Amino acid sequence: MNVFVLNCGSSSLKFQIIDTDIEKIEKDEEKILAKGLIERVGSQSLITFKAEGKAPFKSATPLRDHKAALNYIIKWITAPETEIPGINGLEDIHAIGHRVVHGGERFKSSIRIDNEVIEGIEDCIDLAPLHNPANLKGIYASREIFGPSVPQVAIFDTSFHSSMPEESFLYAIPYQIYRRFKIRKYGFHGTSHRFIAYRYRLITGLSREESNIITLHLGNGSSACAIKGGKSIATSMGFTPLEGLMMGTRCGDIDPTVVEYLAHKEGSSVDEVFSILNKRSGVLGISGLTNDMRDLIEEWEEHKDRRAKLALDMFNYRVKKYIGAYVAIMNKCDAICFSAGIGENSPVIRKGISENLEFLGIEIDDKLNEKAVGGKEMKISTPDSRIAVYVIPTNEELVFARDTVRVVLGHPLPTR
Ligand code: ADP
Repeated sequence: MNVFVLNCGSSSLKFQIIDTDIEKIEKDEEKILAKGLIERVGSQSLITFKAEGKAPFKSATPLRDHKAALNYIIKWITAPETEIPGINGLEDIHAIGHRVVHGGERFKSSIRIDNEVIEGIEDCIDLAPLHNPANLKGIYASREIFGPSVPQVAIFDTSFHSSMPEESFLYAIPYQIYRRFKIRKYGFHGTSHRFIAYRYRLITGLSREESNIITLHLGNGSSACAIKGGKSIATSMGFTPLEGLMMGTRCGDIDPTVVEYLAHKEGSSVDEVFSILNKRSGVLGISGLTNDMRDLIEEWEEHKDRRAKLALDMFNYRVKKYIGAYVAIMNKCDAICFSAGIGENSPVIRKGISENLEFLGIEIDDKLNEKAVGGKEMKISTPDSRIAVYVIPTNEELVFARDTVRVVLGHPLPTR
């Protein structure tokens, strides 16, 4: 079965075509047939596509909106010269999986898209005003282009965290406010945390119920998740992705009073303050240099820039704090798993985070840590480390494709 996986941002579209079915999922034998990215939709768009075993196709052309971008992708996919194995026409795409950022309290697992589901996703726009409309644009366009005969599935970033208990997801604000407006922690990066937990089970041979781990998705956006008995019981992102760890441009945890104070001092609107907290804070805000961790590390190593070092130290400090908090609430923690751009590629950051955690039973092996780069899945802790430490590359697209297959074929979904 060829699944077209679509991940729409406000001005970008990412896609993969994955050849998969139930047997291939069980044998972990799926194949990526093609993938691509269109950036700057709405102006001169930048295109990078790649079919399996072929050189990348790059181009720049104006694409008006998401529908035009999707049409462009489909034209490329089905062009005879593209030669994607097994894809000759639109009829060779058998199902579509859409990443949807916010499922609110309603969508606790992936679901086949129909009019009612679309209404449900629309109802969540208030909760994710930047993300859900973009995801919906991808859904509307795919329905128009592919028609009703191609099944479409929504996979939500929030679903995996729907297992969090009330004491974990509630904010300590009047309960009626939670009830009326659904103001609570939802958490994001759910497909990633779920995938890391699944790989951990494969590596260790442990069952879901026996898995007690902390997963660290450290990329441009970062979040930590406490997974107990295979279920998410706490995560660092909250009502929006702004809460929690320090990120590329987001501030993470902050006293909400700052918003009012800064708006007052600067004579700016609440929106302007949130724009600072979302887009000009975090690693970029502290270093004054970059939001890119690789560049930041280089800046520190080559020029000993003081604020680059401060940003690195603050980033690590915040992750450490969450590890401590999660070990405390989990009662039992067997492993910490690093993932995403920074977690998968940066021995410096992993070392910085793990340093001085020996008293918790966390000890990494420097040589193994140095080796774990470029998408390697491996254990990097010493044999004596009571809590094992792993590097596990994430693969959200694979989760999207697998859930799509399971939903379409009516197979039971692993909700966690
Ligand atoms: P997102 O998907 O959230 O945009 P990614 O998971 O791709 O982000 O991670 C991007 C981050 O990973 C960037 O800050 C980038 O600098 C960092 N990164 C990638 N490779 C390395 C590396 N070798 N060392 C340090 N950071 C790295």
